[in-house]
Amino acid sequence: MLRLFWLLLLAPVASAGPLTVGFADIDVTPAIEAKTPVFMAGFGANRKATKVHDPLMARAVVLSDGTQKIAMVCTDVIGLFNDFANDVRSDLTGFTYVLVSSTHNHEGPDTMGLWGSSPFNSGVNEEYMKHLRANIVKAINTADKKAKPATAKIAVVALPHLMEDNRQPYVKHEDLVAIRFESEGKPLGVLVQWNNHPETMASKNTEITSDFVGYTVGELAKRQRCPVAYFTGTVGGLMTTLKVPIKNPQGKLLEDGTWEKTEQLGREVAIEADKALKTAKPVTLTPFEIRRREIHIPVQNDLYKLVWRAGVLKRTFYVWDNNPTPFKPATSEDLSKPGALRTELGYLKLGDLEVAVIPGEIYPELVLNRVQDPADPAADFPDAPIEPAIYDQLRAPYKMLIGLGNDEIGYIIPKRQWDKKPPFCYGRTKEQYGEMNSIGPDAAPIICDQFQKLVKENKDK
Ligand SMILES: [Zn+2]
Repeated sequence: MLRLFWLLLLAPVASAGPLTVGFADIDVTPAIEAKTPVFMAGFGANRKATKVHDPLMARAVVLSDGTQKIAMVCTDVIGLFNDFANDVRSDLTGFTYVLVSSTHNHEGPDTMGLWGSSPFNSGVNEEYMKHLRANIVKAINTADKKAKPATAKIAVVALPHLMEDNRQPYVKHEDLVAIRFESEGKPLGVLVQWNNHPETMASKNTEITSDFVGYTVGELAKRQRCPVAYFTGTVGGLMTTLKVPIKNPQGKLLEDGTWEKTEQLGREVAIEADKALKTAKPVTLTPFEIRRREIHIPVQNDLYKLVWRAGVLKRTFYVWDNNPTPFKPATSEDLSKPGALRTELGYLKLGDLEVAVIPGEIYPELVLNRVQDPADPAADFPDAPIEPAIYDQLRAPYKMLIGLGNDEIGYIIPKRQWDKKPPFCYGRTKEQYGEMNSIGPDAAPIICDQFQKLVKENKDK
């Protein structure tokens, strides 16, 4: 008996230690000065900010399983390119993986270049980008210092009534995922992931705001008595807060572009998350398995090429040779030749939770295996095969998708739902919105195929 006891004590410890988690956030609001306008992103060109309504934040979470440490950060801006994510990584040490993402806020500064004084002038302020980079690094390092041994509970709740889908076919990714971390019975922080465009204040607003996200985070932090980090997931196809019927407590329907609606919607998301967390289940989030893959996607959108050539889109142009994973990637200056952008996919297995990291705004159809079948005969590529769905690759009890993850390449549209040329699908007389903000019809097949390979590679190990 005694011998067995000693054997048990001497049994090799698992390679992964206990989970540790830290949260931190930092104000990244741009200063409004008369001589350097802040161009607001997400709608038309030349929308200059007039004041700050509420602060923009970078919210960071650092998690470790004892052997590997990862950082996840989400910022209240429209989108951040892969080069920016790599710059942040180069300022950090000791991390196996760093995820830099944005909420896709349509009421903050231009961080991509597409919303300056005209479509051919970048709205990016390089000084602000440096400030943002330094502060994201600071938030991650602070979260790391605050990390403590933690336990986790997870809840998933569908919120179809708080989102609209404004593009046919109508498929929503409704699930909000919330994870509450505790240390010695005390709340450490809550990580929330949901799928919606922060654009409730709409196109006429000129006051800097985090849109509904700030209200969600504020209300949930109050209810849970801890910091909250919000992450954006599946927002293509198109998941929006516009036209969502939200009423005030007196039963009055609130209008888009009003603070009242933005606040009410944000608070309702928090109330739902808080309610779901009351029945959250314990979840094991160790050990970690982390994988990333760099891929090339052909630039097929002429509009993108035009603004790229004008220097509005600042990213490296690569030679496209029909291979999404070239052994030796070659850059090119000649934008008239077939070219590609370089981006990356991520796959994180954190114990019983799998996380897909997708570099843009993916359509829910591609996540949930609900691509239209049969295709509408008026589609541009009705015979295109259905892409392997992102969530079909994940086998863990819990799943999460982080969109605009380490890049923002625009909409990722199922190829057989691509509809730029007449006749148009569903008997429509005009094309639907989406394709103009997509790199091209081959983005979805490449991303879904490469994600499948990335997960398989992981499982074979
Ligand atoms: Zn968008």
